[in-house]
Amino acid sequence: MNKEQFIDELKKINITVTDHMLEQLEKYDEVLRAENKKYNLTAIKNKEDVYLKHFYDSLTLSKIIKLENQSLCDIGTGAGFPGMVLKIIYPNLKVTLVDATEKKCKFLQLVIQELGLKDIEVIHARAEIYSKTVREKYDIVTSRAVAPLKHLLEYSIPLVKVEGNYIAMKSDIQKEIENIDIYYKKLKIEEEKILTFTLPYEESTRTLIRYKKIDKTDLKYPRKYTDIKKKSL
Ligand code: SAH
Repeated sequence: MNKEQFIDELKKINITVTDHMLEQLEKYDEVLRAENKKYNLTAIKNKEDVYLKHFYDSLTLSKIIKLENQSLCDIGTGAGFPGMVLKIIYPNLKVTLVDATEKKCKFLQLVIQELGLKDIEVIHARAEIYSKTVREKYDIVTSRAVAPLKHLLEYSIPLVKVEGNYIAMKSDIQKEIENIDIYYKKLKIEEEKILTFTLPYEESTRTLIRYKKIDKTDLKYPRKYTDIKKKSL
């Protein structure tokens, strides 16, 4: 996807980008591809793919939630997807990027510095540790392609404010929602909306699933990572 195609596709999903935003994305892409040569940040290496599979794809979150003047936490953001891209296009979002890998966190700090972004922080932590102490803090929590949905729910829902939303960005979720009702009940969430669509140009399937948090999360969640992995809730 070249830049013109990127701008056109964003218009179709009601996103208008300013020249300043495009310059920031351009710089982000440059830093990403330069740093990616030194160590492994992303498997996606060419510019057209970065615009489609990272930038455009991150922005599809706007199909399922309004992104203005809210706090958003991106769990397992990697090289900043979707959180960093959302911050660039929705500057009044307050963004927290969480990742367990130190070199990715250093990269994110570098991008923030290069782009002069404000109201965005990077937390180097495992989500299941972070969400032990940071509770009911964010309007929106999201993650793209990090872990099985059940794991994501257990360590992401504690971070969400009551009445706030958790959104998983996935390719296919059919298998992941088998026997998941017990998670909804114990974590006190409701499935509000599922959207399935294909990415333009390459036509791979994407699924967004939005949950609403109904009530505070019991302090016993999340469990230890070994339990999250081994035993169902
Ligand atoms: N969201 C990004 C990165 C996906 S790769 C994207 O879509 O491009 C998965 C990332 O999640 C890795 O950077 C890894 O370090 C991080 N991760 C995996 N499990 C995690 C956990 N439990 N807590 C925090 N980060 C985690």
